[in-house]
Amino acid sequence: MKGLRVVVTYKCNFMCSNCRYSCTPYKKGAMDVQKFKREVYQAMDDGYNNYVIIDGGEYFISGGLVFKYLKSIDKINIKKSIVTNANWGKKELFNYTLQSLKKYGIDEIIIKYDYFHSPFTDIDTIKESIKKSIRMDFKVAICSTFESESINTPKDIYTYNFIKDINKNFSDIKFIFESTEAYKFPSLSHRYILKNEKVVLY
Ligand code: SF4
Repeated sequence: MKGLRVVVTYKCNFMCSNCRYSCTPYKKGAMDVQKFKREVYQAMDDGYNNYVIIDGGEYFISGGLVFKYLKSIDKINIKKSIVTNANWGKKELFNYTLQSLKKYGIDEIIIKYDYFHSPFTDIDTIKESIKKSIRMDFKVAICSTFESESINTPKDIYTYNFIKDINKNFSDIKFIFESTEAYKFPSLSHRYILKNEKVVLY
């Protein structure tokens, strides 16, 4: 499986201390839609053609930006995923957004939550987001970061209990585990090529 991850903005409504892209509400700007489209087509040509993940930043706070990206690649038939902190999962707007994502062929909603997100949102909101996404027939993945391999720090125990809770209450959820160390890029100014995933940064 080789795919593409495009980090389209560093603007986010959260300021998680583990954020691999150092996103904050104070960061400005987002990737140009034409550049996004070019990068996706280039990645396809380079063989990274199994999936595309639109990552950030929380681009859902920037109006309909994500739909412009999706429209630009609507002819491409590969697995498409979006990443969100889902902080608005309890609002009616979340349903409308999911409906639009469906129309644009999104397959998977990747929701990020762990100890590091907990100062900014709560588990009930995450559960509500999962429920709504499943109801709309999306695949759901939960992405969480651990800081120790043995999962024995208070932060990791919090995250572990969250994962257990989600696993107990929902079936067919994919879990993606990351380490606080794994993605510490020395600089955010260039493109990074990982083995099976091409990452393009804004
Ligand atoms: S929600 Fe995600 S993008 Fe935003 S600061 Fe936290 S880790 Fe970074």
